[in-house]
Amino acid sequence: MEKIIKQFLSEVNKKNQNEPEFMQAVTEVAETVIPYIVTKDIYYGQNILLRMVEPERVISFRVAWIDDNEEIQVNRGYRIEMNSAIGPYKGGLRFHPSVNMSILKFLAFEQVFKNALTTLPMGGGKGGSDFDPKGKSDTEVMRFCQSFMTELFRHIGPNKDIPAGDIGVGGREIGYLFGQYKRLKNEFSGVLTGKGVSWGGSLIRPEATGYGVVYFIDEILKNNSDGLKNKLVVISGSGNVAQYATEKCIDMGAKVLTLSDSSGYIYDKDGIDKEKLEYIMELKNIKRDRISEYIKKYPKAEFHSNKKPWSVKCDIAIPCATENELDLNAAKELLKNGCKTVGEGANMPCKSDAVNLFLKNKIQYAPGKASNAGGVAVSGLEMAQNSLKYTWSREVVDGKLKEIMSDIHSSCLQYGNDKDYVNYVKGANIAGFVKVADAMLAQGVV
Ligand code: NDP
Repeated sequence: MEKIIKQFLSEVNKKNQNEPEFMQAVTEVAETVIPYIVTKDIYYGQNILLRMVEPERVISFRVAWIDDNEEIQVNRGYRIEMNSAIGPYKGGLRFHPSVNMSILKFLAFEQVFKNALTTLPMGGGKGGSDFDPKGKSDTEVMRFCQSFMTELFRHIGPNKDIPAGDIGVGGREIGYLFGQYKRLKNEFSGVLTGKGVSWGGSLIRPEATGYGVVYFIDEILKNNSDGLKNKLVVISGSGNVAQYATEKCIDMGAKVLTLSDSSGYIYDKDGIDKEKLEYIMELKNIKRDRISEYIKKYPKAEFHSNKKPWSVKCDIAIPCATENELDLNAAKELLKNGCKTVGEGANMPCKSDAVNLFLKNKIQYAPGKASNAGGVAVSGLEMAQNSLKYTWSREVVDGKLKEIMSDIHSSCLQYGNDKDYVNYVKGANIAGFVKVADAMLAQGVV
C-alpha cells in the first residue's frame, strides 16, 4: 500500500513542483483515500484521484489599481476552478500578501471535499490575490476590488462559479466586489455569498463558520457522553471565524481564554465574556486595530508578543487563524497540558506531524474540511434563498446549520469509526471522496 501511495504522490509532485501546501493537502487525502479505493472495484483503475488533483481550470490575471498617492499598484489575481462534478465551483477569495498558486490550490482541493460533505450541490474552487487590505483606506480597497472584479466577472456566475469571503475578504470587500459585478453585468444575481442581508445575503452567514465549528465539536463531545459546559478553550485568530467560535463557546457555557492575531496572543484567565468580545469585534472589524490593544482596556489580561497560544492549558483547542499555525511542538505542548479535543476553524492549521501526533494519541481531532464546513454550508443556503427570492429567519438558518454539522459528523463516523477511536481525517476524506467520485464516474471522462 505504501508503495502505491508513494508512486501516486511522486507523480503528482512532478507536475506541482514548489507547491508545498498543495502537496501537503493531497498527501493527507491520498494516505486515507487510496487504501479505500483499492478495496472498491468501481473506483480502482479509474485514476479518479489523479483526475481530482488536477484543477479543471486555473485563471491568473493582472490587477492594476491606483492608490491614494496616485501611484499605480499591480497585484496578481487568481481563481482556481477545481472540480464541478456535483455543482458549480464554490469557494472563498483570500486577499493576503502570502497568497500564491500553492496556497490557493490546497484551499481549492480541500474545498471540493468540504463542499461534498455539506450534502449541498456545490463544486469546489478558491481564489484571491496577494493584495494586502491591511493599512489601506476604504477607497483603496474599493478601487482594488473593482479592478479585481473587472477581470473576474467574465469567469463567474450564479450557475458557474460563486465566490465568497476568506482571510482579508469580509463584508466590506464582498460589497465592493458585488457592486462592480452588478454594474458590469447589469444584473442583480447571487454571484457572491456573504452579501449584506438587505441586498441578498443570508442571516447567520457571518456567524456560520465559527458557530459551525463549535457545533461540530459539540457533536464530538456528545459522541463521548460529554459537553462544552465549563470546558477551557484556547482559540487562535481574532477574525471572522475566531470571533463567532468564541461567541458560540460562551453561549454553550465554555470559557475562552485566548485570541490572537499575527502580532501575538492575549490570555485572559477570567475568560473572554460577551462584553469583552464585543470590544474585540469593534477593535478588529471597525477600527481594524491590533489585538494587543485588549490589555489596555482589560489590564488583568496578558499580551504575548509574536507568540501563539498553544502553551495555555486547555481542554479544547480551536485554531482559527491560518494554515500551518500549529506545529509538532505546539501539539506536544497541548497534549502535555491535557488538551483532549482539537477542532479546526481555519483550513489546514495543523501541520502534518502535529496531526499524526494527535491521531497516535487518540486525541479527538476534527480536520477543517469537516469542522469548518458551516460557512460554505450557509453560503449554499444563501444561494438557495437567492434562487427562491426569499429570506429564511435566523432560527431557520441556524437550525439547518446545526443539522448539516450533525450530518457531517455522522458521515465521518460512517467512514472513520475504527473500533474504539473515530479517525475524523479518514472519515471526512472518504465520505467527501465517495460523493465526488460517484458523480465523476457517472459523467464519464471529462
Ligand atoms: P479573517 O481575515 O477574518 O481573520 C484572520 C485572522 O487570522 C486574523 O486574526 C489574522 O491576524 C490571523 N492571521 C491571518 N494570517 C495569519 C498569519 N500568517 N499568521 C498569524 N495570524 C494570521 O479570516 P477568517 O476568520 O475568515 O479566516 C480564518 C481561517 O478560517 C482561514 O484559514 C480561512 O481559510 C478559514 N475559513 C474561513 C471561512 C469563512 O467563512 N470566513 C470558512 C472556512 C474556513 P491579522 O489581522 O494580524 O492578519
